[in-house]
Amino acid sequence: MTKLESIRRSSTMVVGCGRLGARLADGLSEAGKNSIVVDRSPEAFRKLSTAYGGLTYIGDATDLEVLKTAGIETVQTLIVVTDDDNTNIMIAQFAKAYFGIEKVITRLYDPERIAVYSAMDIDTICPLSLAESHIKSQMDFK
Ligand code: AMP
Repeated sequence: MTKLESIRRSSTMVVGCGRLGARLADGLSEAGKNSIVVDRSPEAFRKLSTAYGGLTYIGDATDLEVLKTAGIETVQTLIVVTDDDNTNIMIAQFAKAYFGIEKVITRLYDPERIAVYSAMDIDTICPLSLAESHIKSQMDFK
């Protein structure tokens, strides 16, 4: 295995360098983990801290060739946090079906879809559901 391959095999790819994606990538970098962030907009990478030590890649992540060139085939974990549920789920499905990535975590805005994706073995994180349960717990009702 080449050095690049071994780095990638222990690395995390973050798709979408918005507020959440940039924070996650910065966190990985701070923790000394290998990471690559993909975003179709080069300006998005400005959200990364100046101390970010991982890789960045410009491209539309719904394009299989973009994902391949960015090294998706060898990453251990994929975090998909663009601002569109359909985009996120398409990328998560590619990652599972074409590239065999075991750990795929996807942000979903629509809580109605969570059950469908967990049936596909795709972990989802839904900010609306998290906020709802947090507020309910603060107000002591279910
Ligand atoms: P936010 O809304 O702050 O979470 O940002 C979402 C990020 O996802 C933005 O930086 C977008 O440029 C990025 N994004 C949206 N669609 C794609 C896509 N198909 N491929 C790569 N990045 C994307």
